[in-house]
Amino acid sequence: MAKHKYLASEEITEYICSVSAPEHPVLKKCREETSGLPMARMQLGAEQAPLFRVLLGLLNAKKTLEIGVFTGYSSTLTALALPPDGRLVACDMSAEFTRKAREYWREAGVENKIELRLGSAIETLHDLIDEGQAGTFDFTFIDAEKTEYDAYYELCLQLLRPGGLMLFDNMLRGGRVLNEDSTEPDVVAVRALNAKLAGDDRVLTALLPITDGMTLAWKVDFSPRSA
Ligand code: CA
Repeated sequence: MAKHKYLASEEITEYICSVSAPEHPVLKKCREETSGLPMARMQLGAEQAPLFRVLLGLLNAKKTLEIGVFTGYSSTLTALALPPDGRLVACDMSAEFTRKAREYWREAGVENKIELRLGSAIETLHDLIDEGQAGTFDFTFIDAEKTEYDAYYELCLQLLRPGGLMLFDNMLRGGRVLNEDSTEPDVVAVRALNAKLAGDDRVLTALLPITDGMTLAWKVDFSPRSA
């Protein structure tokens, strides 16, 4: 088990996984192979995968965006949950890790659904807006530079359709968000974003105590149906 699973014990996490939607064999392989890497703590936990599947299903998601690919666990998971004509734009800085991710995409048969954009995610998000893709994404998953989360948030909010959902990982920073005196840049940034989201009437927010804390930010749909 990865080292970041401190909110629930290993036993509870295993139990959660055993009674949730089963893990796809390629995801299991990705998780097990990644656990041997020095940066393995960046990997999602297996207990997070069923949540993605339920949310993507509820959203009827077809067009999705991911910031922070690493070795491809969440992108493979997302693409598997999309319909055959679904699409994922995946953003990352690392050619090395995403080469590994592409192997899992291929093995899971979802490579054709994924468009990888290498480089600064903030620049990529601006590019997507410039390309006229604002308001077209059903779902975005954010798990990259914590100090850039607020910038991702503002840009992704433009890219999401009304009623779309943003999902942020690591919103509890190992519990360090409780320390108001912390000067760690990632903790300061995540604390500020948590406070901003709570008072932001463009979204409805729920912070779930799963793994290192995942925040759902639902872009409020002002259409008459939901008013
Ligand atoms: Ca993460």
